Amino acid sequence: MLERHRRFRVWGLDIGQTVKAMAFTYDKTGNLYLPAQRNEKFLTPRTARNSAFSGALFDAVRKNTGWSHDCGEALGVSFCGPVIRRTVMVSVNRRIGAPLDLGRLPVLNDGMAHTLASRLAGSGKGHKGAYCMLTLGSGVGLGMFHWGDHGDALVPNNGEAHFSVHTEGIRRVPKCNCGRYGCFEALVNNKALVDLLEQEGVEVPGERRDNAGFFIEELTRPGMRPNFKVGRALGAWHQRLASGICNLWAMNDMGGNRLQEPPMFVLGGGLSRLVLTATLKQFCFTEFGGKPFMGKRLLIRKEKLGNAAGCIGAAAWAVAECLDMDPLNIRVLRG
Ligand SMILES: [Zn+2]
Repeated sequence: MLERHRRFRVWGLDIGQTVKAMAFTYDKTGNLYLPAQRNEKFLTPRTARNSAFSGALFDAVRKNTGWSHDCGEALGVSFCGPVIRRTVMVSVNRRIGAPLDLGRLPVLNDGMAHTLASRLAGSGKGHKGAYCMLTLGSGVGLGMFHWGDHGDALVPNNGEAHFSVHTEGIRRVPKCNCGRYGCFEALVNNKALVDLLEQEGVEVPGERRDNAGFFIEELTRPGMRPNFKVGRALGAWHQRLASGICNLWAMNDMGGNRLQEPPMFVLGGGLSRLVLTATLKQFCFTEFGGKPFMGKRLLIRKEKLGNAAGCIGAAAWAVAECLDMDPLNIRVLRG
């Protein structure tokens, strides 16, 4: 076998409340090979001091996956909080604000990891217009690409959805974890959905509050009587989602210059299972009174990579760093 096709192991870690770990292989030409089936999941370590986090993480990864730092296996990390160069800002265990030590690992924000994976191997692959990915879960991740003269460009400084959307008609505007009222993040995350259900008089049991997606799916299974309260809560949630998408649509389009048509929005994360794309698109057009100044073509899709996206993005990021390549030039291939 040619040396450049020799395969090496790389792990992709997706860190949130739990750590998802997937083992991939790669070669020196920039091919990243998807694993047939290997997915470990374990609790994110909690440490009293931020500086102790990387040590605890390495121990947990070693114990749960057999990963070994010594034999040169690469490791990339997708993290559920703002990432500034290699420094992640705490959000797993504590409030955002203090840097959390991750040693010298290649790390990127989880919104960006999902976006990269979607672009390389998922629903965003091959799309030529502006592209935006939203991951909907306990938080809201955001990643965008613009299509430039030299190929794609990752829009820097995104990953978090702390921008305001209009709040007229919203009874209880939640306070965002960034301290503001009216953030898109706080209006469409899991907590907001639970609140919308409760405003309609749907009781959400304690153990189901962390994932309203599954709870709603159970209440609306095919063959069940229509649940109008859940329907109204979901309708309001779609409206809020549409409002944020319209903001991003206008921004992606450079304020109406129609430079990067058609814009495509890909929705991932646990709550994306609830999205009715046609309804959402309808709400988006309604926001503009039926006549968006950006043009008429708006694509909304769901991400097909599912919950593997974070690990794939993290592994691609690590491989790009090992090989000193543009991450958008990594080729993701089956086993
Ligand atoms: Zn915010």
